[in-house]
Amino acid sequence: MGKDVRGRRSELGGLGPDSDVGGLSTTVGMAIAEMVRTTLGPRGMDKMLVDRDGMVVVTNDGYTLLGQLNVDADLVPAAKLLVELAGSQEESVGDGTTTAILLAGTLLGEAETLLDRGVHPRTITRGYHLAAEKFRDVSGEHATSVAESDTETLRDVTRIAMSGTGSYVDDGVLANRMVEAAQVLARGGQIRADDLLVEKVPGGTVADTTISRGLLLDIQPVHVNMPERVKSARIACLRTDLAVRQPRSDLGDVVVRDADDYRNVREYEDRNLRTTLRALEASGADVVFSNDSISEPAQRWLAERDIMAARRVATSDLERIARATGAMLAADVASLEAEDLGSADLVERRDCGGADLLAIETGEESIRASLVLRGGAEHALDEMERAVVNGLGALAAVHQDPRVVPGGGALEVAAALAIREYADSVTGREQLAVRAFADALEAIPRTLAENAGLDPLDGIIELRRRHAAGERAVGIDAVYGRIGDVVEAGVVEPAGIKERLVASATEVTNRILLIDDVLAASDEDDR
Ligand code: ADP
Ligand code: MG
Repeated sequence: MGKDVRGRRSELGGLGPDSDVGGLSTTVGMAIAEMVRTTLGPRGMDKMLVDRDGMVVVTNDGYTLLGQLNVDADLVPAAKLLVELAGSQEESVGDGTTTAILLAGTLLGEAETLLDRGVHPRTITRGYHLAAEKFRDVSGEHATSVAESDTETLRDVTRIAMSGTGSYVDDGVLANRMVEAAQVLARGGQIRADDLLVEKVPGGTVADTTISRGLLLDIQPVHVNMPERVKSARIACLRTDLAVRQPRSDLGDVVVRDADDYRNVREYEDRNLRTTLRALEASGADVVFSNDSISEPAQRWLAERDIMAARRVATSDLERIARATGAMLAADVASLEAEDLGSADLVERRDCGGADLLAIETGEESIRASLVLRGGAEHALDEMERAVVNGLGALAAVHQDPRVVPGGGALEVAAALAIREYADSVTGREQLAVRAFADALEAIPRTLAENAGLDPLDGIIELRRRHAAGERAVGIDAVYGRIGDVVEAGVVEPAGIKERLVASATEVTNRILLIDDVLAASDEDDR
């Protein structure tokens, strides 16, 4: 498969400045769609790519795949726009990347046929636009609303979104944890990926994956004599060290000439450090995090007073702690006040399957959750993490817009039927483009069927027939490799993601067609 892709690359990379760029975009689009085709759906295959440095990359993710493409974006605007389409889909929702690329590429392919028949690009883009609007209507008609309490459907949505990222297929265990996590995150109003912390601890099984309120970080207290557990913690977040400062005079560094000087300097340092530590204690802090160092004497001093402290905390973690607990990031300890501290119900060291983590529980009000992923080796955990990102994206989408639609290509078949019917009412050559759009939509069920080992042609025929007979939820049940009621099988997707994906794939396709039109016109007026 790597060979396949490299072949494409040289094909794309072989373009010189003299190449005929106008009209090429459709070919490029089709090639890219072809590339991601075999990865669609839960039974999609992983692709093995060899990157520029000869490193092997194995992925099932449309976005990762496109990231490996080596094309000169200036020469092939179509490729650049498709990569951007994948990127925006990936960033905004995490899911639906492959479908978006496949749809855009197929729309470009259909457009090529129409262009060959003499249909003007603008006519095609108008027809595509009309059809995309119709798709949205159909999606609205087929959507059902999920209640926030309907954890079963939420789990299904999550499971389906998680299934397409790699060889990782969730049997519902992880999806259940994700739904729990989403319930915590939803308290913040909107579910933000940033508010879910993921720690990966190799070993165990997926069932050992835990979700906890608040933060769970890979942080260890500095001193063995420090408390393991602090209830109703008052937390100081320091962007400075707790160590001796080199004394400085206005004239520069202090120069030590003899033993007296040395003693004086030491005393000065000790006094300084002690003043700082006393200020820290006076603020009422009983847990201290610093992104800098905490010297040995300071550690002992803190341990003696039952203050838990951790040093060299990653700045990103420090910021997270500050946000989650309401602490201020303090750069100057001497002026630290009680109100600068954050608070947590509990800070404790916790053994998570052999990994020593620090839990910071911020209570019922918390809008942050931590997931400790278990099960398998590091590589498997990375794959799970990618799945988690997609699952969370789907949960966030449903939280924003609670409608879900049948997956497994069912909605696409229904929409294709409705759009073909609608095409009859469209006047002019736009009608052809509207029909072509319906055909392109069917690439999704067709591809899912193919990847699930079904005959794609027979599959489409059966799907069309049953939808025409009113079976609205019939699609490809990819896990069992059969055609049936996908809603019953729990294959549902957020309507918002689907609608957005179809809209942006159409928009990008249309932009590519119009750029081509301009390029062709400026090249030579041969049309
Ligand atoms: P994308 O990057 O577009 O999300 P995926 O590889 O995740 O690509 O595939 C998504 C498609 O797979 C959707 O059409 C979805 O409905 C379908 N799908 C996911 N799980 C199943 C399943 N168990 N049965 C049938 N179709 C499924
Ligand atoms: Mg997916």
